[in-house]
Amino acid sequence: MRVAVFSAKNYERALLDDLNVGQEHDLTYFDALLEPGTASLAAGFTAVSVFVNDSVNRDVLRQLAQGGTKLVATRCTGFNHIDLEAAEEFGIRVVRVVNYSPNSVAEFAVGLLLALNRKVHRAYNRTREGNFRLDGLMGFDLVDRTVAVIGTGKIGTIFGRIMASFGCRVIGFDVHRSPEFERIGGRYVDAAGVEEADVISMHCPLTPETYHIVDARTLGRVKKGALLINTSRGGLIDTDAAIDALKSGRLGGLAIDVYEQEAELFYRDLSSTVIPDDVIQRLISFPNVIVTGHQAFFTQEALETILGTTLKSISELEAGHPLTNEVAAPRRLQG
Ligand code: NAD
Repeated sequence: MRVAVFSAKNYERALLDDLNVGQEHDLTYFDALLEPGTASLAAGFTAVSVFVNDSVNRDVLRQLAQGGTKLVATRCTGFNHIDLEAAEEFGIRVVRVVNYSPNSVAEFAVGLLLALNRKVHRAYNRTREGNFRLDGLMGFDLVDRTVAVIGTGKIGTIFGRIMASFGCRVIGFDVHRSPEFERIGGRYVDAAGVEEADVISMHCPLTPETYHIVDARTLGRVKKGALLINTSRGGLIDTDAAIDALKSGRLGGLAIDVYEQEAELFYRDLSSTVIPDDVIQRLISFPNVIVTGHQAFFTQEALETILGTTLKSISELEAGHPLTNEVAAPRRLQG
């Protein structure tokens, strides 16, 4: 099958070519993001593969349908960047990668927490300059602290299990209760219960309900000095409100692998340019903020599973088989 792979990085191309041996799809790689201005590149490709920052909106889907595309395969779990109702309307099916090493993201979230709390990012820079002083590097013991997991699905539960093994009290906030989360010692609380947390880690998807779920109101009620970790989606946090909370000292630190306006920034080398985004520049200027560029998923195991699953979905479409990882439009899910 002819496949247009958008936002294709070098590390993906080599691995996709290896994994494609035996399946023999005709893969064409594009550096470009898929967006209204680039959608015409996909004309004549039955399948189109995208990543987190491609914008698969109605306009793009209309163009894809006109060009004969039947499948959009996103190389990630989240699908907030795809207009599912428009896809259904234009007869384009959508698949994602439901299950790929959730450990990769959970372990990275733990890494961010440890670095943020114990100021590893600052110590690294200091010692490179020959400065071995400890002033400003004090953290707190995690044992006996309360860690809130917002979204206790696959990643949130693994994150909770690791934090429980540190001796933390793990609390969870979710619209669905997970027996696995309770089995690892997690205790469910309501939104107000999150106020007792020393650490809050975001693991729910971005939906209209979760957009800015952490806003000025939430941040005004968190425990003073709490640390906030977000490896899920940038839109979960009102970034301006987070900056205010950092300035007032209400928030003790922020570590984000995702950022609301990341599509303009992430996965590019902008080191020789003046970055026009004042918000990210302000964030980066804080000593108690760590920003990484959406890399939590980025392990060998996860990447192999992501790309292997993507090719498998394309083969399923070609063979006329049911699509194991199909995402249905919301109203179909309810129907
Ligand atoms: P999952 O579906 O297993 O779990 C998500 C959980 O969030 C579910 O338990 C769900 O009930 C809960 N949830 C949904 N709406 C909620 C709400 N309004 N309030 C509270 N909880 C709510 O998903 P997962 O595999 O654990 O992935 C979680 C998220 O992690 C993804 O949606 C994605 O955005 C993000 N992610 C990030 C990276 C990265 O590299 N940074 C990689 C993979 C996934």
